Amino acid sequence: MSHYYVTTPIYYVNAAPHLGHAYTTIAADVIARHHRQRGEEVFFLTGTDEHGEPVADAAHALGLEPQELADRNAERFSALLPQIEASNDFFIRTTDPSHIAKVQEVLTRVRENGFVYEGTYEGWYCPRCADFKPENEIDPGNLCPIHHIELTREQEDSYFFELSAFQEPLERLYAERETFIAPRTRYNEALSFIRSGLRDVPLTRHRLTWGVPVPWDDEHVFYVWFDALLNYYSALSYARPGVDLTERFWPADCHVIAKDILRFHAVYWPALLMAAGLELPERVFVHGYLLMDGEKMSKSLGNVLDPFAVIERFGADALRFYLLRDVSFGQDGSVSTSSFEQRYESELANELGNLASRTLAMAVRYRDGVVPAVEPDPALAADFAGLSERVGELIDRTELTVALEEIWQRVRRCNRYVEERAPWQLAKDESRAGDLDRVLGTLMEGLRVVSVLLHPYLPASTETLLDALGAPDLALTGARLGAGTVARVTPIEPLFPKHAEPGGGAGNSTPRARGTSGGGSTSPAVSPESSA
Ligand SMILES: [Zn+2]
Repeated sequence: MSHYYVTTPIYYVNAAPHLGHAYTTIAADVIARHHRQRGEEVFFLTGTDEHGEPVADAAHALGLEPQELADRNAERFSALLPQIEASNDFFIRTTDPSHIAKVQEVLTRVRENGFVYEGTYEGWYCPRCADFKPENEIDPGNLCPIHHIELTREQEDSYFFELSAFQEPLERLYAERETFIAPRTRYNEALSFIRSGLRDVPLTRHRLTWGVPVPWDDEHVFYVWFDALLNYYSALSYARPGVDLTERFWPADCHVIAKDILRFHAVYWPALLMAAGLELPERVFVHGYLLMDGEKMSKSLGNVLDPFAVIERFGADALRFYLLRDVSFGQDGSVSTSSFEQRYESELANELGNLASRTLAMAVRYRDGVVPAVEPDPALAADFAGLSERVGELIDRTELTVALEEIWQRVRRCNRYVEERAPWQLAKDESRAGDLDRVLGTLMEGLRVVSVLLHPYLPASTETLLDALGAPDLALTGARLGAGTVARVTPIEPLFPKHAEPGGGAGNSTPRARGTSGGGSTSPAVSPESSA
């Protein structure tokens, strides 16, 4: 069995979870679910980053120990996961004793391999980034470009990681593996940083205590970024009690990150792994920012949209769909309540929701829910040919928005097919019963196939839909027209009820094609009531 390992960054516990965290996690979850559909053994990791000065400062300001604050906030991140339907296999916390032991083990090996030395570091430091800022990244007025607060000049004894030793190995890595970092703009950005000349970086902090202790010098703790990066490796050693999964899943197949942590993942991380003699991940995919009022949603800015409120009103599926549909994954994009509501209404309710309810309603009305197995209509089969393979290739390239668009075109195609074939006309003519069987059977297959392919994006509603079709199998091998058998169809409540029209209204329950091509609005006058 082949294996697939996908990660999110671990989230810094110094803030409450917000839409940005949900976004990254949802994307990684789509990838994980897709690979499970391929029949692969998947390990999907997320968790929390709990060390460093900002956590210690925030805890002390609240009169708490850092561990107490970390416990409290890690709980909030872990509570987010079921709400967004994340199917992670483990939740790592960097205060886990097994993680700490693994960090000490790996970084000791880096030192034994000759890439650690003692020195003094001086630089401009942002306490909220928990990071020194290179001169060329400091905003006018000596401000942090992210937090807009004044940087402080810091000097301290430190052990250094000899990043400069990996200048040439990293350039070679980038030359040999052009998809190591994607999208291409991020690859170029990281490569140009490498080419600008790598300088050694501090590996430890002297004055801090809230971190992983340095085993060879108890006055130091490891710099939080090295501790954090190693979560991807350490988790495998203890996630499953009694089993070390490292050999099975390392190296990781895909790290999904946001662009603000590109350098750590594209430069420090591969260098650190090389220094430790470990294999490098296959790929780092860098997504953009969700913008509201032109600024990214960050852990430290106040302009956050609460994903919990969206989920409570519209469901997690709708949030997942919207984020991957409306903003091209990999690029920055604006999100807003109004564009969410528009997508919800025009696409989820009117396109997929309508396709589902009209198809199921017609099968029940005209064939009592049992439609004979038929050879799919070539007119629709042609438009579905190669779809599953195409979607797989796109997801391999982490083109989650393009893959979704490919599937969505078939949702629309199925709605057009209904209009073209007008089953309600065929139903009036007894001599065309065979044609009606074929149209209904083809339509149900189309609905089944798009449901299987949409499953990673819309896990709950596609399960409802596939159950209603009596075809719950999620395997991608079945995502071809004619590959499955729809058994007995049962009608369902609207998957995406329209909130503007209070429940129970006629506009809510009558399947009706909207936004389809052709002027003939001879949509089926099939209502669930008439089949009851
Ligand atoms: Zn900062």
